[in-house]
Amino acid sequence: MTERIDGSVLVVNAGSSSLKYQVLEPTTEEVIADGLAEQIGESTSRIKHWYRGHDVVVEGVLPDHEAAIAKVLELFRSDGVDIADSGLAAVGHRVAHGGRSFFAPTLIDAEVRSEIERLGPLAPLHNPANLVGVNAVTALLPDVPAVAVFDTAFFHDLPAAASTYALDAEVAAQYAIRRYGFHGTSHEYVSRKTAETLDREYADLNQIVLHLGNGASMSAVAGGKPIDTTMGMTPLEGLVMGTRTGDIDAGIVFQLSRVAGMSIDDIDTLFNKKSGLKGLCGENDFRSVLERADGGDEAAQLAYDVYLHRLRRYIGAYMVELGRVDTIVFTAGVGENAAPVRADSLAGLENYGIEIDAERNAIRSKEPRVISTDASTITVLVVPTNEELAIARQAMEVAYPA
Ligand code: ADP
Repeated sequence: MTERIDGSVLVVNAGSSSLKYQVLEPTTEEVIADGLAEQIGESTSRIKHWYRGHDVVVEGVLPDHEAAIAKVLELFRSDGVDIADSGLAAVGHRVAHGGRSFFAPTLIDAEVRSEIERLGPLAPLHNPANLVGVNAVTALLPDVPAVAVFDTAFFHDLPAAASTYALDAEVAAQYAIRRYGFHGTSHEYVSRKTAETLDREYADLNQIVLHLGNGASMSAVAGGKPIDTTMGMTPLEGLVMGTRTGDIDAGIVFQLSRVAGMSIDDIDTLFNKKSGLKGLCGENDFRSVLERADGGDEAAQLAYDVYLHRLRRYIGAYMVELGRVDTIVFTAGVGENAAPVRADSLAGLENYGIEIDAERNAIRSKEPRVISTDASTITVLVVPTNEELAIARQAMEVAYPA
């Protein structure tokens, strides 16, 4: 007899060589299982799998995502759970790019799969991998409803002035070139959670949300509607990230091609994988950057300064765009954990009504919390993101409409 996980949702986030998954119960928010398969398709692969308090690490060879998922299902069977026959209610897939086609969570069928495939060229680093995950899970769990949740969806209705590049309009229209924005699931979850935490109406709050993880983005949300965000046509634009440049003069592409003789693929890899904090100081783990900078390492200090400079530039821009700001909210790995980043990014802004309370800012917690002083006109908060929970809830809403 299989252990029951009735009403729970499997959330899948498939990357090019990785597969993150979680099984959770969206109403109680209980996480039942959590795992990560890495180095899929390489000579050795690894799965870290956690189920109700027990974890295992398995090393082996996983030639593709289907093999990885088959292995994950096997690990569940060793936990006593036959996923296909355990009461699993839905699967929620994180899909990076919804293009112009998708702006709401969507029940996946053959047509949706081919549309995601057609969007591949818009997000070559993400969508094809996401689709491989969708196909692999569908093949193994054909009877469980699967829902795609798009990272761009929340930003679908950005005002035209914010979503349009100043590019030849015909070229832009022909190739669907506009600013789409990413991390939408997180920006929406965190901005709603902020309203809930403060016991305020979502529609009454003007918010700046800083999602600072390895990938990083900021959004300006006016009365529950995003009016701007830092990522663009791809997740490369905007803030300095772990390994991405963020904003960069497009002329540098021409320079690297003409003068350095680099191919477009080389430049893509350079900008997306070898730049940002890693490009500046050799490391993209923010903890090491902070430690090294504290120890007097000049490259790490410069990386930190460049990172902060960009953050502050956008905070200023979004304050002006919003006109009135009620909350500034930090989330994701760096935003939730790196107190110095929070303090430094808002330092010296007392004249704008922003005052961080050093003691509150130093508290470590998994709970949403206010870190500004009671006198601060703008409330500054840390609100842990939970993209898996948001995806699970959206998957349930679509799979079982009320
Ligand atoms: P992603 O989901 O984009 O991979 P996360 O949101 O998990 O990223 O954030 C990862 C980043 O958070 C890493 O740069 C990591 O160093 C940073 N981070 C995690 N804990 C801390 C901490 N205590 N102090 C500073 N940075 C931290």
